Amino acid sequence: MTPGEYTRAVHTPVPPRPEQEPLGLPIYRTAAWAFETADEYRDVLNDSRPGYSYSRVDNPTADAFAQGVAALEGAGVDAPVAGQPFASGMAAISTVLMALTRAGAHVVCPREVYGGTYGLLSDLLSRFGVTTTFVDTTDLDAVRSAIRPETTVLWGETLANPTMTVADLPGLAAVAHEAGLTFVVDSTFASPAVCRPLEHGADVVVHSATKYIGGHSDVTGGVAVGSPELIARIRHDRIELGGSLSPDDAYLLHRGLATLPLRVARHCASALTVATALVDHPSVERVDHPGLTGHRDHGLAVKLFDEGRYGAVVTITPRGGREAGVALCDRLRLIRVATSLGGTHSKVSHVASTTHRQLDDDALAAAGIGAGAVRISVGLEDPDDVIADVVQALNSL
Ligand SMILES: *Cc1c(COP(=O)(O)O)cnc(C)c1O
Repeated sequence: MTPGEYTRAVHTPVPPRPEQEPLGLPIYRTAAWAFETADEYRDVLNDSRPGYSYSRVDNPTADAFAQGVAALEGAGVDAPVAGQPFASGMAAISTVLMALTRAGAHVVCPREVYGGTYGLLSDLLSRFGVTTTFVDTTDLDAVRSAIRPETTVLWGETLANPTMTVADLPGLAAVAHEAGLTFVVDSTFASPAVCRPLEHGADVVVHSATKYIGGHSDVTGGVAVGSPELIARIRHDRIELGGSLSPDDAYLLHRGLATLPLRVARHCASALTVATALVDHPSVERVDHPGLTGHRDHGLAVKLFDEGRYGAVVTITPRGGREAGVALCDRLRLIRVATSLGGTHSKVSHVASTTHRQLDDDALAAAGIGAGAVRISVGLEDPDDVIADVVQALNSL
């Protein structure tokens, strides 16, 4: 008997499953997968046979993206490197931190850590009994003395916002491993096209893929990479926490990988050109960019980063304090006032009123941040146009 109209509408012929390898990444936009038998379903859920069941658990498009990042981050590592995809950078960070702590555990974290990570540790995780000491991680002795018997994680950021402080990855890894801690590095500001922290002793690397990896300001995502053992624990907790990456977003992020080195090389070259052009402008008090020989971490950047790539954030502190910083943002024309970084378009934000708004002027000064500092994420435009825009804004202050 021919099935009825409604049944035929639902049960369309099974789509082809070609043996050939597609060059473009297929988007597996399905929430669920079918099994031949009930036992097969059980075995896939138990991880005792490979397969897909449900896209919060695993999805081939999302896996392809995470494996692509693992291949980039693990290029210089002898041991196998695995990856896990997430719906955002914060989904990756929260899942990694929950996987590596429990009630009573303690974390050591840089003072100048990304605001979302700061909030997670100081507010949310502290409600679950995880405590954190925020220290100046450029001082290895301070890191050592912050470690307690219950410490399980040392957190780091390859490049810190907005001072572009470079983490001493080998030094921090040695301190962490001496004490039996897991060393996790948020490498969002660098991307694997600048620095691969696993090569310098990190155990886990996390990214907000929303930034350079996606690269076009049109998708939110995150990723964590590390040894297969650690990544298996992180995957387990991702499945329970649910911050899994959607297949459509995974497709865009995966596409970003193909041009990541090209884009980041240009972002970085332009940023250094912009930083160099502005450092001697009479209205500028200070320019923070690790490609400048005057940046305090220039030597560390030369040692740890790929040649000529120092990240693409340039922080400019105009003379005239907070008001000058705000006015500088408002007078830029090409460079848009916008959140986030790492996209095709140059963006600017006034640090003291956005990413570091919790800090008063004294706290800003203690962190080495001027009240007028503006952070520019240098995009893919012609660097001369970016420079001209900043110069016309500075000249009008
Ligand atoms: C943006 C950012 C995050 C958070 O990522 P989302 O994708 O916004 O969740 C984490 N760390 C750093 C350094 C970031 O810049």
